[in-house]
Amino acid sequence: MIDERAGAATTEEVVAELRRRSAFVMVSHVKPDGDTLGAGFGLGLALKKIGKRVHYFQQDEVPRNLRFLREAEFVSRSVPADLPADTLWVFCDMSDFSRAGEFLPPISRENMLDIDHHLGNSHFGKLNYVLPSECSTGTCVMRLLRGLDIEIDRDIATNLLATIMTDTGGFMHSNTTPDVLRLSAELMLAGADKELITEQIFANKRWPAMRLLGRAIDAAQVAHEGRYIWACIDDEMLERCGADGEDTEEIVNHLRSIEHVEVAALFKAFDGEVRVSLRSSGRVNVQSAAARLGGGGHFRASGLTFRGSVADALKAVDDALVAEGL
Ligand code: AMP
Ligand code: MN
Ligand code: MN
Repeated sequence: MIDERAGAATTEEVVAELRRRSAFVMVSHVKPDGDTLGAGFGLGLALKKIGKRVHYFQQDEVPRNLRFLREAEFVSRSVPADLPADTLWVFCDMSDFSRAGEFLPPISRENMLDIDHHLGNSHFGKLNYVLPSECSTGTCVMRLLRGLDIEIDRDIATNLLATIMTDTGGFMHSNTTPDVLRLSAELMLAGADKELITEQIFANKRWPAMRLLGRAIDAAQVAHEGRYIWACIDDEMLERCGADGEDTEEIVNHLRSIEHVEVAALFKAFDGEVRVSLRSSGRVNVQSAAARLGGGGHFRASGLTFRGSVADALKAVDDALVAEGL
């Protein structure tokens, strides 16, 4: 369903814009995941097939478990100096421009396309193709490819299936609708390598990541009669396990999967900031809770970066969750 808010673009408008432009820079959000990358790579490969020039901008390094995605090797933190004046900057999977980080050159709004499925997207582009009922940004891209009449080949299909499998947690989350399974079947028939995606994204855990998970669970604390569980990871814990930031990704989902838990929070106090990941079992809206503190996301999965100490973050997040009915 098309978002009806003012400024939301139709598939036809976006398709016309994509046809009109000669060059594109696909932009992914900081700390990239399989959706932001897979959606950009999928659309990028398709645009190359119809003769367009495509680059990929990404502030942070591509995580180890996503380097298998086709086009990952072309990602860069800088952009070529000779981009034509009609270059369109395509922001994938971010509720606001600021999620792209700090290394983009100044870009006029006229040259921004926003493709996303987050609640509360700020509609920062000239065109905002924002479809909150879609399970991933990749399935928004699928609609565009249909509009462009570009055939989905096996590489595009693998990228797009990776977006779905990432954002549905391997077809486990509540956003796994019959439509999503139909689209996934379509992608597999087009040659998507589901086996590869499963192995790389879901069965490729590093030993330090598992040790870190063990420590985080051991140190987790419950509150609100067991409905809330939180854990904190800091530089020292990472060091002791030989782990790095990428090894923290799955921890909050494990916390959420404990019986009776309605909200899980992971406080990541390293790299000089406190980032918080929130997950809900479906009663409490963690997107609204994160938005109270300058973050965003989805009803059941959200995040924020807290300016202040860990102790203050714990208190602020608890307050925000209580305000949302925890
Ligand atoms: P994460 O916990 O990092 O996996 O993020 C869960 C969801 O929240 C994703 O949909 C993110 O796009 C969103 N999110 C995470 N951090 C932020 C932030 N600082 N601002 C806005 N949205 C965020
Ligand atoms: Mn994302
Ligand atoms: Mn997404």
